[in-house]
Amino acid sequence: MTDSKVIDSPFEAVADVSEQDAVAVFSRARAAQRKLAQLPLEVRLQGLKKLLDYLVENRNEVIDILCRETRKCRTDALVSEVLGVLDNFEWLLKSARKILKEKKVSTPITLLGKKSRIVHEPLGTVLIIAPWNYPLHIGLTSILAAYVCGNAVVYKPSELTPMQGLFEKLFQVDPILADSVQVVYGTGISAQRLIMQKPAKVFFTGSARTGKKILAQCAELLIPVDLELGGKDQAIVFDDVHLDRAVKGVLWGALTNAGQSCSSVERIYVQDTVYKEFVERAKLEINKLVVNSGDLGNADMGGMTADFQLDIVHQQVVDAKSKGAGILTGGSTLMENELFYLPTLMTNVDNSMLVMREETFGPLVPVIPFSNEAEVIDLSNDTEFGLSASVWSSDQQRAYRVARQLECGAVSINNVMLTEGNPALPFGGTKASGYGRQKGAEGLLGYMQSKSILIDSDSNKIEPNWYPYTRAKYQLFDQLILALFSHQTWSKPLNLLKAALIGMKLENLSGKDR
Ligand code: NAD
Repeated sequence: MTDSKVIDSPFEAVADVSEQDAVAVFSRARAAQRKLAQLPLEVRLQGLKKLLDYLVENRNEVIDILCRETRKCRTDALVSEVLGVLDNFEWLLKSARKILKEKKVSTPITLLGKKSRIVHEPLGTVLIIAPWNYPLHIGLTSILAAYVCGNAVVYKPSELTPMQGLFEKLFQVDPILADSVQVVYGTGISAQRLIMQKPAKVFFTGSARTGKKILAQCAELLIPVDLELGGKDQAIVFDDVHLDRAVKGVLWGALTNAGQSCSSVERIYVQDTVYKEFVERAKLEINKLVVNSGDLGNADMGGMTADFQLDIVHQQVVDAKSKGAGILTGGSTLMENELFYLPTLMTNVDNSMLVMREETFGPLVPVIPFSNEAEVIDLSNDTEFGLSASVWSSDQQRAYRVARQLECGAVSINNVMLTEGNPALPFGGTKASGYGRQKGAEGLLGYMQSKSILIDSDSNKIEPNWYPYTRAKYQLFDQLILALFSHQTWSKPLNLLKAALIGMKLENLSGKDR
């Protein structure tokens, strides 16, 4: 075991949490959750509001840290991280009350006189494990969603972008929030030790490789898991679009955050009639992009956060080139030994190449021609991943028809990566992109457990389906089935009348001895 500790002050070196400290973290979190469970939702929303205000006020300081830690360009940090978080918080403030409130549901005629309710209760203490590509957005949106639901949170950021001390400082805006979230640093070893403490649920965002390991560990402990994994998202461009807009949109989707987004556009299918023009325009646009970070908001694309990720990206280019792909721009780093990979436009690619099969997570732009709707649906579904996609066409009906046939969790029509821009829409994948949803009502309810309550009044009434079972009751139940559910003799009012009469006879027999 490594010499390790929980880091609770800023600027200490990242170390893995010890088994002993993992126990202590969970014991603190569980004590906090017991207190939190006694407080109304309004108290949690107040903490969220304070955090939102603080973030707006201190956004530049946060962006400085983000850019330093990730090599993002400043606009990516401002828009995709800070603005995205604020949008999400605002949605939580407006929508959480309605989504989380107790609900009345209908009670069937067979349970006449009773009432049914669903209440949503916090899961308890949950563990959130995060990746390095959007350390602010993914971290804060998942932590605050869990917290608003009344859970205590143990949060393990990526060891590559720990932003040490930042979240702890942010949560100081509200003592209850600060008490309810424990940040634990370190590598996968820390995460494994935290899972051993049996959180009520694990929310994991990261690679499919790690997702499988987490699932295996959680299976042993019977812990539920949500997995938000990688993608190989496609853009499908039909020949009736405004091509200039489609080129610019698709390029942004491929290159924002230097392609290090789970839902980056990684495969671009363009109808063959406009393919040549699309590629020419894309080349012109890419050549205009400014690649830099540490900028003042005037760079278009920043750098890669991790050197191993840059190696994966370059390996895909080398592999594609060796199999006959054309590299029309980029294909190398900006300067030797720098972590800035140039946006790389690729043609003549096919499914034998790594760039078409495996997640890239970098600024590669492979463009593939297609001839018709059926072909492009087959081509684009031919992947193990299924996170999101975009469809571009002036024929909205066609775009919608195609969107419905794509095997993925989200589709933007005539825009890109925009489903995750709306906090009311659930976000998550199918196939190897994982399961479970973040955001939207579905996402929020993933942090709760529903409790069903059926209310009957106290009386001396004995239910007809309680003992004793008798031949007479059996026959009446049998007739009740026909009266209520037989659609062949369906005359609703008459059948309901019959059912009521049978019900009365059953009640007369209830509780009577044989
Ligand atoms: P990763 O899987 O390497 O690491 C993610 C987190 O898991 C880190 O905090 C890491 O310390 C932890 N971890 C590592 N080994 C572990 C283990 N054995 N048990 C438990 N935790 C462990 O992923 P990454 O490289 O940080 O992130 C990139 C990946 O995340 C890409 O595949 C990307 O597509 C995916 N991603 C998905 C979404 C989504 O919402 N679907 C969003 C962002 C990123």
